[in-house]
Amino acid sequence: MTTHLLNAELLKRACGADPQACVCSLGACSSWESFTEDRWPNDRMRQVGTLRDPLIDEPTLEEFHPDGTRYGSANAPVAVASFPYNRCDAYVCGTCCRTLLRYTEFGGYYVDHRVREIQPGLIRD
Ligand SMILES: [Zn+2]
Repeated sequence: MTTHLLNAELLKRACGADPQACVCSLGACSSWESFTEDRWPNDRMRQVGTLRDPLIDEPTLEEFHPDGTRYGSANAPVAVASFPYNRCDAYVCGTCCRTLLRYTEFGGYYVDHRVREIQPGLIRD
């Protein structure tokens, strides 16, 4: 399976039909949330693409917050070329139709999966 590389425009289009209130095991995640793999509803998730450009070895760690938001802000822009969006895969939940981004933080002694639900209006180049 090839993974489709998304830009801001394609990611907006991937946010399809009206999302419904979440009923899946991930719960609300309007800002970045840690989750464990057993909460990921694998049978409902359809990967729609990735924001990780295979031609870039080390995607930037710079974040993009022109309006004073922070990493964990619910209204932080989804800036596809900035951290952590530049290393995310995009999924749509088959149950609630939300579009979700996920990536994995690698610390010295741990891995930490993170997920965020995407509002199309927050997506930026
Ligand atoms: Zn869901």
